[in-house]
Amino acid sequence: MLIDSHVNLHAAAFALDLPEVMVRAKAAGVARMIAICDRWENAPAVAAIAEAFPGVGMSVGAHPHYAKDHQALRAEDLVAFAQNHPKVCAIGETGLDLHYGYSPLEDQKTLLWEHIKAARILDMPLVIHTREADSETRALLRQGMQEGGFPMLLHCYTSGVGLMQEALRWGAYVSLSGIVTFKNAHEVREVGAQIPLDRLILETDCPYLAPIPHRGRRCEPAFVADVYAFVAQWRGVSLDALAEQVAANVFRLFPMLRTPA
Ligand SMILES: [Zn+2]
Repeated sequence: MLIDSHVNLHAAAFALDLPEVMVRAKAAGVARMIAICDRWENAPAVAAIAEAFPGVGMSVGAHPHYAKDHQALRAEDLVAFAQNHPKVCAIGETGLDLHYGYSPLEDQKTLLWEHIKAARILDMPLVIHTREADSETRALLRQGMQEGGFPMLLHCYTSGVGLMQEALRWGAYVSLSGIVTFKNAHEVREVGAQIPLDRLILETDCPYLAPIPHRGRRCEPAFVADVYAFVAQWRGVSLDALAEQVAANVFRLFPMLRTPA
């Protein structure tokens, strides 16, 4: 069983052929996915997709890119949505992104803090996006952990080893996307090599970041098989053992995904 822990299925890129995309995912062995919510107003659309396809869970939250549009979003809103939608298994994606800087840092911090509170109230994993913001992300997560722990996944990890090692001590899981297959992604592999196999999760982040040999095309969940194949060879484990280990990790972090409903 393969699991793609991060898919943006409500993206316009899938508007015309989502059923076919899901058939190809199933044929590739992808039995579970987490459909990620990027904007509060898209949560119903993400829920509709999660409810239409067995094995698809969802997150609820707002991406740091859109933080400036979500300053009124409160933890209570996220909690209420999660409690009314049984397929919600994660909070996010949330975090800090200083690479693009689409929203002011203060707005991103405010929004991340509301997500932290929701994850703690629900005891549900926080799906964290962090890019070129290691020290800021580390400080806020540390403060969050000090005030009461919560499970977390550092998704599509491309940041430094310091943030990752501290998060691992908090019990975090770390996911790698198709970026790990890119020829020039030396630093991602250098850091990624230090993820313990029992904390490692894999994803596509589709429709973005198609892994080699699909690079440049629209990415889709079936391509997570190429990420698994690459990581198995790179980390020196069999494909079967890797798939079994990642599934065990996902089910430990997201227990609701155990049953395919
Ligand atoms: Zn992200």
